Amino acid sequence: MATSRQHEEIVGEPSEQRQRSADRQESETPTADRTILTLDSATKRYGPEVAVDELSLSVVDGEFITLLGPSGCGKSTTLRLIAGLERPDEGAVRIDGETAAEAGDGPFVPPENRNVGVVFQDFALFPHMTAAENVAFGIEDLPDAERDGRVEDLLELVGLADQGDSRPEALSGGQQQRVALARALAPEPEILLLDEPFSNLDVDLRVEMREEVRRIVKDTGVTAVSVTHDQEEALSISDRVAVMHEGELEQVGAPEAVFQRPTSRFVANFLGHASFLSGYVQGDEVETSVDSLPREQVHGLQSEYDHTELDVLVRPDDVLTTCNCNGEADGVITYRRYLGPTVLYRVELDSGETVQCMHNHSEKLELGDRVDVGLVADHELVWFPVEDDAGA
Ligand code: ADP
Repeated sequence: MATSRQHEEIVGEPSEQRQRSADRQESETPTADRTILTLDSATKRYGPEVAVDELSLSVVDGEFITLLGPSGCGKSTTLRLIAGLERPDEGAVRIDGETAAEAGDGPFVPPENRNVGVVFQDFALFPHMTAAENVAFGIEDLPDAERDGRVEDLLELVGLADQGDSRPEALSGGQQQRVALARALAPEPEILLLDEPFSNLDVDLRVEMREEVRRIVKDTGVTAVSVTHDQEEALSISDRVAVMHEGELEQVGAPEAVFQRPTSRFVANFLGHASFLSGYVQGDEVETSVDSLPREQVHGLQSEYDHTELDVLVRPDDVLTTCNCNGEADGVITYRRYLGPTVLYRVELDSGETVQCMHNHSEKLELGDRVDVGLVADHELVWFPVEDDAGA
């Protein structure tokens, strides 16, 4: 069994260790060298409840980062701390090198002076104003010609050059979002905050708008911080994803890194279907109840892990299940979910473990079928120490 030290090395369990790991990942994926936003051990409490717990994060110029986590994990509160709609109880928020808020008697810059634009979940457009007037709202102080020119440019940027005179009620959900984006970008903010930006859109439109929002954000070069509970959305639009859990940052990294190399079981589970197969390190192999894996395919198994028991993370596409009704099989199909192009199955293995697999819709397996299970991953797999009885 892995020791707690081994555990720390691999999954970075303690928060300090996890933060070091997050810092490491941050330094691995810089997109620029100027830090625009820093949350420095920011904490926000509501009565006895700690909504955001000593959260530290740096975001560099032009980066698109998404705070991802389940409902209630503190994403919106973090966004509100950045916007200046909340004050931190501990720690600080810094924007472009200036302290925007510091706990205690420290400075507090109000939202309107922070150079931060916000796109709200419901877009919050002014219904009595046209699209152009909405976009012009935050730049009324500019000389007329400059203001009109910028409104025109922004409407063009968001693909609404011919809708400037339309009122919000005459626009589709996607168009309203484009106006909200243009309005938030008009004062040329240093940071753009997006609060669950796609939750008010139809499913079909969401995918299209994800790409559009990313394009627009990247075209302007603004630094963007988005919030969502939708892992697919976070993985598809972000330069980095910051996974939150119970007010803390669980892992920060590029989408591929957090998906393929989660540093905790929580992240592994939250970013898609996760099954854990018990394994034993034996020579050049890791033996599991269904297959042996080449040792080099399991991440970071140096010699000190010989004869270690561990749990290997496998995702549904790492597993191939085939019907074996006559001979000795590995397990039985106990769940089947049709997803259109694919079908998700759950297999209860005779070893007592459960594994999920994803198959093309044309390969039909039925509930109760006895099946063989093979590991077909062509990439590195990560592992976690065996949990003790208390589930630590
Ligand atoms: P998320 O955005 O991830 O859903 P929130 O930041 O909204 O999470 O909330 C984090 C926690 O703080 C939740 O438990 C929530 O109930 C609590 N919370 C948020 N805002 C308030 C508030 N204004 N008053 C009291 N509790 C709050």
